Amino acid sequence: MQAERAIETSGLTKRFGERTAVDGVDLLVPRGSAFGFLGPNGAGKTTTIRMLLGLTHASAGQMSVLGHPVPAERATTLQRVGAIVEDPCFHPYLSGRENLRVVAAVRGPEAAKRIAPALARAGLSERADDKVKQYSQGMRQRLGVARCLLADPLLLILDEPTNGLDPGGIQEFREMIRAMVEQEGRTVFLSSHLLDEVEKICDAAAIVDRGKIITQGPIAELAEGGSRHELILGVDDVELALGALAASELVREARRSDEGIRVILSGTPRDAAQINAMLVRAGVGVARLEPVRHSLEQRFLQITSRLDAPVERQEVQA
Ligand code: ATP
Repeated sequence: MQAERAIETSGLTKRFGERTAVDGVDLLVPRGSAFGFLGPNGAGKTTTIRMLLGLTHASAGQMSVLGHPVPAERATTLQRVGAIVEDPCFHPYLSGRENLRVVAAVRGPEAAKRIAPALARAGLSERADDKVKQYSQGMRQRLGVARCLLADPLLLILDEPTNGLDPGGIQEFREMIRAMVEQEGRTVFLSSHLLDEVEKICDAAAIVDRGKIITQGPIAELAEGGSRHELILGVDDVELALGALAASELVREARRSDEGIRVILSGTPRDAAQINAMLVRAGVGVARLEPVRHSLEQRFLQITSRLDAPVERQEVQA
């Protein structure tokens, strides 16, 4: 039976002398998803990936990849894992196809049969016979993924794969990843310091900062997982509504805003119905009552800047 999780770590820690680069990381990466490992430079992403691939030892903690404990079963596990940790290197005077043939020659006939589909998946069929030195950086990155596909990996681990790509390159990369996940059922674990990219490519993510996981889960849940819950109200009598809201235990703060009234709840968004009923009892006509959605960008900024900055200020930046 296949393990439910493509990657699972518990208490994963890496110390370099005094510095703890990865600090008790518990990662849960579901199979068949694109998972973003998101954090600022120096957060510990590359070090975590290197431990998962057995390129460096963990100081403490456990890891399993595709259901196998690593590093104990590293050799078997890595047969079904493709990884790009640094910029992929190719023979510049050989074509993309020839480069893949060189790799397939070592891997065997099954790998050779996968060359054409891998090039197609990477969107390189038309340029496959051009020399790699004529490729753009985006094409080289995608050729790197095509090379991984020769092993028919269940899991791809990509460290900052879109670094240095232009928007067009990022878009092509994104489409390739989505196709690998949705059409082929592979799992893609990619690290990035770019929130926008993770939000667009990934189904789920972990946010890492200073070696620690701050939060992880489906993108939609991370986006809404802020600690403060707010509502926007549109009412027929703002003064009357503000008076009623000020007297309610369900409300931490209520004030006028461009939209009408902004309410910070003491509890959860589920209290919205009670607030509505309370306003109606007070004689206020409620035309609009809507939870404020905190974008993942606001949340990422909150987390990585470590400032409990007011949401309004962040909205201006977003
Ligand atoms: P970046 O995107 O900048 O590579 P990252 O999130 O991948 O960031 P890491 O490269 O894992 O971060 O680095 C995490 C911390 O560990 C940093 O403070 C870094 O300086 C430190 N570090 C990484 N490798 C070593 C090493 N070989 N020796 C000492 N310190 C290291």
